[in-house]
Amino acid sequence: MSRVAVAIIGAGPYGLSLAAHLSARKVEHRIFGQPMRFWSDIAEAGGERYLKSFCFGTNLSTPAPGYSFADYNEPRGLETFEPCSIMNFTEYGRWFQHHNVPWVEPVEVEHVDRQGDGFAVQLSDGERLVADRLIIATGLSGFAHVPPVLASLPPDLAVHTSGVTSFAAFRGRDVAVIGAGQSALEAAALLCEAGARPQLLVRESSVRWHDRSALEPGFWERLRWPISGLGRGLKAKALTQFPGAMHRVPAKWRTRFVRSHLPAEGAWWLRHRVETRLPIHLGVTVVKAREVSGRVALQLRLASDAGQRRLTVDHVIAGSGYEIDVGRLMFISQGLRSAIQRLGRAPQLNASFEASIPGLHFVGPASAMSFGPLFRFVIGAEYAARVVSRRLSPQHLDVATGAKPARTQGRRLT
Ligand SMILES: Cc1cc2nc3c(=O)[nH]c(=O)nc-3n(C[C@H](O)[C@H](O)[C@H](O)COP(=O)(O)OP(=O)(O)OC[C@H]3O[C@@H](n4cnc5c(N)ncnc54)[C@H](O)[C@@H]3O)c2cc1C
Repeated sequence: MSRVAVAIIGAGPYGLSLAAHLSARKVEHRIFGQPMRFWSDIAEAGGERYLKSFCFGTNLSTPAPGYSFADYNEPRGLETFEPCSIMNFTEYGRWFQHHNVPWVEPVEVEHVDRQGDGFAVQLSDGERLVADRLIIATGLSGFAHVPPVLASLPPDLAVHTSGVTSFAAFRGRDVAVIGAGQSALEAAALLCEAGARPQLLVRESSVRWHDRSALEPGFWERLRWPISGLGRGLKAKALTQFPGAMHRVPAKWRTRFVRSHLPAEGAWWLRHRVETRLPIHLGVTVVKAREVSGRVALQLRLASDAGQRRLTVDHVIAGSGYEIDVGRLMFISQGLRSAIQRLGRAPQLNASFEASIPGLHFVGPASAMSFGPLFRFVIGAEYAARVVSRRLSPQHLDVATGAKPARTQGRRLT
């Protein structure tokens, strides 16, 4: 069985950025996963789909200059502010990977367990290896949250937005979309545009939309609503300026902040594709769902004690977001999962993104409870890549007492 110093699982923005930084520091590593697979799956489901973040807030990171999203878009005549298409972002990520991390191995990691003071890793091509350190960079995969009320419905009748592989497949069908966040609103628009008959079921009394950002805002607007990669406003600006600061905030306050930051809302460019195009039922909660003759009968509770009503549709799509839960990372052995200390259901990480198991790191959305909301987004990849690569570099490990050395020999040393 071969041995490697560092194994990265997942080749999305976080995994690729970390690999680029490790390479610059000459840290031996291997990285596994189909490059940008999460994003290509979104793009391939069809329709006009855009990032919610600005172009300059969606960079993959490498110490080498010339690889920002704008560096890719500009010479190709593509959008360099907003909205940027998800297909372009996928292609940008692959271009970044081709130039900076060509050694990605496009295989899945099927199983991970502890082995001695390292980790045994089983790949989908049959190879087994041992890694001294393991980086989990698998993004939101496995964390789709489906409301329990839909749990008993078969998957062809009820699906999470992340499980939709083709919006065109719903053409001519009645579809209830649950939620009022970007995913739900976008799914409703895409269904409508694909010839389906969507209806949006929203628990709140209104749908929130965020306004278009002015390209050249005035002085006062710049002062009160400074622009940053995380959006507009002082809070967003502070989070991007001091990416490591939230980790020092007491966990009780930080986790509350992470949960409440960025309420559900839709992007400005989606608004005209939803409002007036499809029925939006406000103040309704799905309290029961059951299959009736191959369709779905929903029982809805109306707000302010206005009673209940029924709605029968062909399918339900849950735009109910994601919930980070270590217990759902099924490729990690049960024993290892249950040994990881948590903040809520997310892993509790130290300042080097390391979990309570020495040598096991989490980057990306799984680190948001420990590091703040910035790390739910691509923009957090740069800080995570810098911190983790420095921690794993031979120079750092030589001086850190008791630290496990990252070996600097082997076939992936670049
Ligand atoms: C619809 C939607 C729109 C979004 N829009 C934005 C946006 O505009 N801006 C923004 O910053 N963020 C956005 N996000 C959040 C986004 O998911 C994260 O910011 C980003 O993907 C985090 O990068 P990552 O590398 O951690 O994860 P990912 O991009 O998900 O990459 C992780 C990769 O790991 C792979 N993987 C999973 N399990 C394994 C395994 N066992 N073996 C090998 N590979 C594996 C996956 O296939 C995936 O490709 C959006 C999310 C959704 C759902």
